[in-house]
Amino acid sequence: MDISDFARQLGIETCLEFDPELLVPEQWIRDLCLENKCGNYGKHYMCPPYVGSLEESKEQLGMFRHGVLLQYSKTLDARNDHEGLRQSRVEFHNKILEMEEYFRNEGITHLWALMGGSCALCNVCIDEPGEPCPHPDKARTSLEAMAIDVLALLDKFGLDNNFHIDKVTWTGCILY
Ligand code: SF4
Repeated sequence: MDISDFARQLGIETCLEFDPELLVPEQWIRDLCLENKCGNYGKHYMCPPYVGSLEESKEQLGMFRHGVLLQYSKTLDARNDHEGLRQSRVEFHNKILEMEEYFRNEGITHLWALMGGSCALCNVCIDEPGEPCPHPDKARTSLEAMAIDVLALLDKFGLDNNFHIDKVTWTGCILY
C-alpha cells in the first residue's frame, strides 16, 4: 500500500509530498508565541521556549530532504465545541503517529512528525513545574511552534485556509 492509500485509510484527506525547504521559521510567528495569547508560552513542553530558538528550529528542519503534508478534518461546532476540538486534535495526533509507524516499517527511521496545534495528549501539559513530560515517545511539536506560517503554507499548496464554523481542519506533516 502506498503512503496516500495508507493516509486515506486513516481518514487523512490530504497527503501531499513537498520539499521541506518550504518550511521557513519566521520571527513574526515566534513573536506571536511570545505574546502568549494562547497561554501556552512556558506552560507547554512542545511550545516555545522549550522547543528551542528560531535558529535551532531552522537547523532541525534543515536536516530533512522530503516531506508529506497531512490534513485531517472533523465536522463540529468550531466556535463552541472546545472538547470536540481537543478530541479531534488528539485523533489527528494518533493518526500521525500511525503514519510514522508506516515510514518505520518502510525502513525510514530518520523522520520527524509535526502536529497541527499544540500537543493535547494530556488535559494539562505542565502540571507541576519541573515534572517531565509523561509521554516523550508520543509528544510532538507543531508547525506553528516551529514558527511556520501555516496559512501561507496552505496557500502555496492551493489548499483552503479559511475558518469554517462547522468544521475544523488540522495540518501537520512528516519530514524524512
Ligand atoms: S504528552 Fe502531555 S505533557 Fe507531554 S507535551 Fe503532550 S500534553 Fe504536554
